Amino acid sequence: PQSPPPAERTAVIDLAAIRHNVRHLSHVVSPARVMAVVKADAYGHGAVQTAQAALEAGAAWLGVAHISEALELRAAGITAPVLAWLHTQDTAFAEAIRANVDVGVSGWDLDAVVTAARELEMPARVHLKIDTGLGRNGCPEDLWEAFVGRALSYQEEGLLRVVGIFSHFAVADEPHRPETDEQLQKFRVAVAVAEDAGVDREVRHIANTPGALSRPDAHFDLVRIGLGMYGLSPFAGQTPAELGLQPAMTLKTTISACKEVPAGQGVSYGFTYRTSEPTTLALVPLGYADGVPRVATGGPVQVDGQVYPVVGRIAMDQMVVDLGRTGLAGTPQTLVGREAVLFGGAGYPGVDEWASAAGSINYEIITRISGRVARTYV
Ligand code: PLP
Repeated sequence: PQSPPPAERTAVIDLAAIRHNVRHLSHVVSPARVMAVVKADAYGHGAVQTAQAALEAGAAWLGVAHISEALELRAAGITAPVLAWLHTQDTAFAEAIRANVDVGVSGWDLDAVVTAARELEMPARVHLKIDTGLGRNGCPEDLWEAFVGRALSYQEEGLLRVVGIFSHFAVADEPHRPETDEQLQKFRVAVAVAEDAGVDREVRHIANTPGALSRPDAHFDLVRIGLGMYGLSPFAGQTPAELGLQPAMTLKTTISACKEVPAGQGVSYGFTYRTSEPTTLALVPLGYADGVPRVATGGPVQVDGQVYPVVGRIAMDQMVVDLGRTGLAGTPQTLVGREAVLFGGAGYPGVDEWASAAGSINYEIITRISGRVARTYV
């Protein structure tokens, strides 16, 4: 059989790195278990492939935002427990129940899922969410006891089973901040209130990647790991390597044109950059339609082991790299076709460098790589 043609633009996903990260984080949080968070197409890495790799490496649960994302995992034949926690009144709760997908509930959605369970005559599996301070979904503290009571009466009717109690951190990526202690304390109280009322849950969970790494007292039964599984650091001052993590995504293409230009050459829309001396410019065929932020001028591109800056505006499909700025890598003729790597694992620029060039965070850089970029799995 013929091998497929090489992808012109690709995000290479290193599934061995994902497995390594899951094993490493499982070890860190043991005896708690890992819920692999694969929402948003596994932060751009491919939900099904990532979920399978994570489960192989010992993740016990999968987590997504939307029930539609959970259903895609089920459609791919994945049978592990899956939790979905963000709904609208148009959400297909009945589909979730039918597909044995756990539903995170915070208020009105408890009644909506129960309505679906009643119609189907099948119990829903729910995790009750308490807002311990983040201010997004989750039942407010003052309504928690009543909320738990409502869930228990539905459980007595056989309409649901309370599988879990959970919450979400706001500032765990800044370990010195006191609000995480306050959130943890509120969570412990909420769990105690629920247990005193008779909730016999399987799992309690509050920690994301930064919580899992910096707060052993937040592990409870399950930690919900996204960023760390993709091999990136949630902490401003720490690299993935320092945390024992391996970045899983490499974004690369090849140089599609290259030319020598004189001093004073304008580069890209708006002429925000002009060459100050004769130099060599390389065209890299990735742009904001591929998910590279338009504002990330200055971001690093590695060619032949050397790193060069993007100059001028990033356009929809392409960007220009100034090869003269940090040393020449060849002649224009020999440079066309040479590999250009925006970010990757050890030895390549990091996602964090693109995040700082864009004034954003590593989560956004990987998640935004668009469907126009092929995913290749190694
Ligand atoms: N839990 C919830 C509710 C989330 O929304 C997310 C992602 O934002 C996560 C866990 C995973 O967070 P992280 O990627 O920091 O591990």
